[in-house]
Amino acid sequence: MNENGIKYLAAAEIPNLIDKDRLRDWFLAVFHDSEIVCSHCGQPLSDRASKSYLNYQITSCINCGKKVQFFKGTMFQNAKISPVQFVLLAAYLSLNVPIRTIAKSLDMSVSSVGEWQKKINRYTTVEGEN
Ligand SMILES: [Zn+2]
Repeated sequence: MNENGIKYLAAAEIPNLIDKDRLRDWFLAVFHDSEIVCSHCGQPLSDRASKSYLNYQITSCINCGKKVQFFKGTMFQNAKISPVQFVLLAAYLSLNVPIRTIAKSLDMSVSSVGEWQKKINRYTTVEGEN
């Protein structure tokens, strides 16, 4: 296999090489300060609710009874892309990979990548002002 063959194989396989549990822990740290708490009342979720929460499922808080979901209230709420696509997209943007290359690599439209770029930049700007 030549050098380019290895590069393309690596790029194509990256999504399958990402550990889903570690990625979820990364989202937990980025979006929730690593805390598993109700987004309404701030109380820790029960063990059972935590399990569903960490599996990205809708669950209920036993303290206030409201529904909670891992990505609710984050920039990833109602996202039409997978968590793996999101983290790769953000990483590629940080490396200044051209948008067309990102779109092709992640099987997304150029306009969708552009919209995510705006969302991520907005989030980064807000964080930077704190
Ligand atoms: Zn609650």
